[in-house]
Amino acid sequence: VPFLRRLRRRRVLRRHPLPQELWSWLLEQHPILKGLSVQELARLRQLSTVFAREKVFETSGSGLEGEELRGVIAVQACLPVLNLGLEWYDNWKTVVLLPEEFTQEHSERDQAGVVHEWKEEESGLSWDQGPVVLSSADVEDSGWGEGYNVVIHEAAHRLDMTDGALNGRPALHEGLDPRQWEEGFRAAFEDLQRRSRRRRPPPIDAYAAESAPEFFAVASEYFFETPNRLKGTYPEVYRLLSLFYRQDPSERLTG
Ligand SMILES: [Zn+2]
Repeated sequence: VPFLRRLRRRRVLRRHPLPQELWSWLLEQHPILKGLSVQELARLRQLSTVFAREKVFETSGSGLEGEELRGVIAVQACLPVLNLGLEWYDNWKTVVLLPEEFTQEHSERDQAGVVHEWKEEESGLSWDQGPVVLSSADVEDSGWGEGYNVVIHEAAHRLDMTDGALNGRPALHEGLDPRQWEEGFRAAFEDLQRRSRRRRPPPIDAYAAESAPEFFAVASEYFFETPNRLKGTYPEVYRLLSLFYRQDPSERLTG
């Protein structure tokens, strides 16, 4: 971390720490934070404090009040980088909050040259280098340990881009073999594609079967929300994610 930024962060931590009352409330409201050690909680509070200050929040018309809402987003966004550091979000400057799910228009040209246009309901969205857009109704549904987390989902897309491409693979630490990553994720992805064509409900949200980036983002949600479910279904994906995030939520939440 560059020297000036380190100084600035130290000042933020001294002058504007997330207030104790807000911090206690955040811990209560986010069962996915259970089991973190005292040191980890202290680090999470620091990261969240800096995140809430450094990122630009545009929150017009959303339900929660400004500071609370910033805290709710900051604490969930910082959980994945607890053991990585905030530099991993250098490509993420702005958070835009919309009150409800929103409609996004898509268009795509197929191989025959025909342009297809359609609209989709979105709970979150993230553009290259641009803002992360979240529905605040969905933010309020996140963090309860039920497998759904729009903040972690969009955060995972940002992490995915750290190797320069949105491809379901973030910049990998030394010792994490890219080939193992490819193979582990591809096997799980293909399995989910097969299973989501059957009549029985798939083991994790079928949205993950859309593409490799969506698989990484959805798997990250389960990793932090309901780790045992992911570990039971796709143990190799769980193992790779725990090497990348440098965390073991299954152990923490149930150990
Ligand atoms: Zn996504």
